[in-house]
Amino acid sequence: MGTAAVADNLEAEQEELFRQMIHDEVDKWVDELVVDVFDKDNQPTLMELSELFTKTRQQFLGACLQRVIEQKYSYLLAQVYSPCPKCGKSCKSRRYSSKQIVTMQGDSELNRPWFYCTDCSLGFCPLDEVLEISRKQHQFDIQKKAVNLSADVTFARARGAALLRRPPLTISGSLYCFIPDKLSYLITSR
Ligand SMILES: [Zn+2]
Repeated sequence: MGTAAVADNLEAEQEELFRQMIHDEVDKWVDELVVDVFDKDNQPTLMELSELFTKTRQQFLGACLQRVIEQKYSYLLAQVYSPCPKCGKSCKSRRYSSKQIVTMQGDSELNRPWFYCTDCSLGFCPLDEVLEISRKQHQFDIQKKAVNLSADVTFARARGAALLRRPPLTISGSLYCFIPDKLSYLITSR
């Protein structure tokens, strides 16, 4: 068998394994849902069903994200030697180090090899470099969202303050039909 054929087989095996892992996670999610949803004495409302999905999907998607990483970067998780990022010296893995991460998808756990270069006194995890993992528990997608939200709130406050400083609105009768009820109430009651 040629090198390309071996690589194709490995890829297919990896894909099949990943598919199976995701199916297992779906089964776990369904198991969790059926307990609450299909109990004969329970008649959940749409809001309760939606809240149940919101609550359980984080756990499900966080687990799926973890599986994707474990399969996509399996070679980094099995790595025994890695070059030091500072001096290039080959370093042997000292131990596995577990890290809890929180993304927009939910919670995941990464158990990856940790290396230490004695020449540079530097500890490092190659997987963290490739994935660009934050040192904090909350990852960059959440940090970005928090910054955007904060900017939105600041903008909304500034806009609100500017609106309050504006002179009273004068709107012709024909335009009122395009203004939602609540807004037209606010305008007319000022
Ligand atoms: Zn080094």
